[in-house]
Amino acid sequence: MQFETISSISTPVGEGAIAIVRLSGEDAVEIADRLYRGAKKLSEVDSHTINYGHIIDPKTKETVEEVMCAVMRAPRTYTREDIVEINCHGGIHTVNRVLQLTLSHGARMAEPGEFTKRAFLNGRVDLSQAEAVMDFIRSKTDQASKVANQQVQGRLKTYIENLRQSILNILAQVEVNIDYPEYDDVEEATTAFLLEEAQTVEKEIEKLLKSSAEGRILREGLSTVIVGKPNVGKSSLLNYLIQDNKAIVTDVAGTTRDILEEYVNVNGIPLKLVDTAGIRETDDVVEKIGVERSREALKDAELILYVMNNNEEITKEDIELLETIDDKKVIGIINKLDLENHLDVDYLTSHFDIPLIRTSIINGQGVDDLENEIQRMFFDGSISSADSTYVSNNRHIHLLEQAKVSISDAISSAEIDVPVDIIQIDLIKTWELLGEVIGEDVSEQLIDQLFSQFCLGK
Ligand code: GDP
Ligand code: ZN
Repeated sequence: MQFETISSISTPVGEGAIAIVRLSGEDAVEIADRLYRGAKKLSEVDSHTINYGHIIDPKTKETVEEVMCAVMRAPRTYTREDIVEINCHGGIHTVNRVLQLTLSHGARMAEPGEFTKRAFLNGRVDLSQAEAVMDFIRSKTDQASKVANQQVQGRLKTYIENLRQSILNILAQVEVNIDYPEYDDVEEATTAFLLEEAQTVEKEIEKLLKSSAEGRILREGLSTVIVGKPNVGKSSLLNYLIQDNKAIVTDVAGTTRDILEEYVNVNGIPLKLVDTAGIRETDDVVEKIGVERSREALKDAELILYVMNNNEEITKEDIELLETIDDKKVIGIINKLDLENHLDVDYLTSHFDIPLIRTSIINGQGVDDLENEIQRMFFDGSISSADSTYVSNNRHIHLLEQAKVSISDAISSAEIDVPVDIIQIDLIKTWELLGEVIGEDVSEQLIDQLFSQFCLGK
């Protein structure tokens, strides 16, 4: 396929020391050559090389930027088109000028996601892989990018292809039945086979859907609230977690600063520490908004870190709050272990079924245990297991939910001996829905809608 040459800045604006202006298309090298001055013209260098030179404004002859130009010729490129990546190290201003120059010398501004869209349209990646790229771009932690990576490598695709194959097998058996309706035993055997196979498919789809919850957590972060009475060490814990773990860079630079959320990566699990700005500022949620309202704040939390002071006795407040959140994922933290014990730990263990971690945060003691506990609680360590397939995309989840409905319909029909040619319709529908997940039978419109969600420059 042939498309116009497109260009955009492909590193997050305002982040990092290097920004790349990326060109893709038939004229990519030619357009870059209009602006580039180096030892050789880019049209003369080998493919997949990086070349030192300068970008000049052809009109004024002024040097705009010192650059490294990567030249990659089709088809061994991300888009399967010629690609030139102009690596700039100057600020956003210079990068913008370089981009503008490419635009005034033959390139068109890329739409969001257009590079990946081309990779898809040129047959380089399938739809589920393309979407995983999108998740990859957005993913906030190493663990999340690992999952996205697996998908890029087509894990989900293989999985779904196998499911579709199973459905085809059932359909083939059903055909036999339709062709030889006079044999009763064939019909019975077919229904039994159909039921068993369809139930397996249903289970597999359910498994995929279950994994989506974990996928979402990996993408968005586990909403986590640190609570406890004043002065127990909540802020200290928060600060420690932020320092001890890579703070996670969010997609949009600058916008998350004043939002009451902070992302930290704990053993590969992203925690979205909710309300932390508030916590930091007022030093205490419970005190500030009272027990009633903290309960509400806690309602939406997926993980609660309940901090107590080893040096103080438990109060009515503590007990009340712990009782209301007992059914949640709570980790009790007994802090200030370095001070004398006044906290009735036995009372806690006998009344509340929550893990208790002992810490002395000012000495950095016990925080490791806390981090391990968080990992254990949510993934039982299975998150890093190599053979899990995570669905981490809303469109996939939606399609899988529909596929589950059709396969369940097929099963209940088979159970009450509905004629097989009717059951066939549900099976075909399931097969089609699964196909949509991996990009088969998708309409043009759907593709456009999907790719417009991509970040610019990918
Ligand atoms: P918050 O009000 O719950 O946020 O508590 P802070 O984090 O502001 O801590 C209150 C005080 O306790 C500060 O002076 C901290 O230095 C101190 N603190 C925090 N953790 C520990 C600890 O493990 N041991 C001791 N002795 N003091 C601590
Ligand atoms: Zn505090």
